[in-house]
Amino acid sequence: MSEIEVPESHPRYESLLTRHRIEDGVDRGITSRQGLIAQGRGEAFDYLLGEETIPSANEAERAAAAHLLLAENPVLSVNGNVAALVPGEIVELARVTGATLEVNLFNRTEERIKAIATHLREYGADEVNGLTADARIPGLNHERAKVDSDGIYAADVVLVPLEDGDRAEALAAMDKTEIVIDLNPRSRSAQAASVPIVDNIIRAVPNVTTHARELADAPASTLQEHIDGFDRSAALEAAEKRIRQGV
Ligand code: ATP
Repeated sequence: MSEIEVPESHPRYESLLTRHRIEDGVDRGITSRQGLIAQGRGEAFDYLLGEETIPSANEAERAAAAHLLLAENPVLSVNGNVAALVPGEIVELARVTGATLEVNLFNRTEERIKAIATHLREYGADEVNGLTADARIPGLNHERAKVDSDGIYAADVVLVPLEDGDRAEALAAMDKTEIVIDLNPRSRSAQAASVPIVDNIIRAVPNVTTHARELADAPASTLQEHIDGFDRSAALEAAEKRIRQGV
């Protein structure tokens, strides 16, 4: 038995675990109520994808790992759903790639940022940014634009899982390499990304870490080959085809 009192062999195990973690996140003040709605949308897409990492998503995850390893200043953005669903896994990805963690919320409150930072520290994070909020993403209104000047604002590569479309577009316009994890290939976030990963964050983050471990000692030229070999339009098309036609 696991944290949800359901055996891991249960056919709906992953989905039940995900729901439980999001509910728990809301109870602890980590996840917003809108996070529940985002989760519901994601679950529907995941069901149609077959609840597995499709080959094009795996390629995107490898390209994402290569980008994070090559970056000078990589940042992983953490919102309430990310903190509830994959706290240990996102801390591990930061460790393996040398990236910084930054709490970045759509419905920003200082209390929730602190709760998320504490939660991530409980899972082993040394440093969690997001409270300084001394810079603004151009083109967004005041509260939604806030980021740390030495964090997301300065990042050359930023991973934004489950991001709202406006902010994903505004970040992409800042000339950053933006990696998005989003189960909806048609969402504005996925469409704006340099590397759209159409996969459940529960599977995607550990798989990016696996690729990063495998590529950790690779020369820069090999990392660049993985980046150049990734075709974002083909990956989005493959995901949409799987969702619409099951192939
Ligand atoms: P758009 O980008 O088109 O503006 P949106 O801002 O309306 O979309 P939200 O409602 O904020 O998007 O939802 C965030 C996105 O996260 C949704 O597209 C949803 O499919 C996706 N999502 C939710 N849960 C997960 C998950 N566990 N893993 C990956 N993606 C998820």
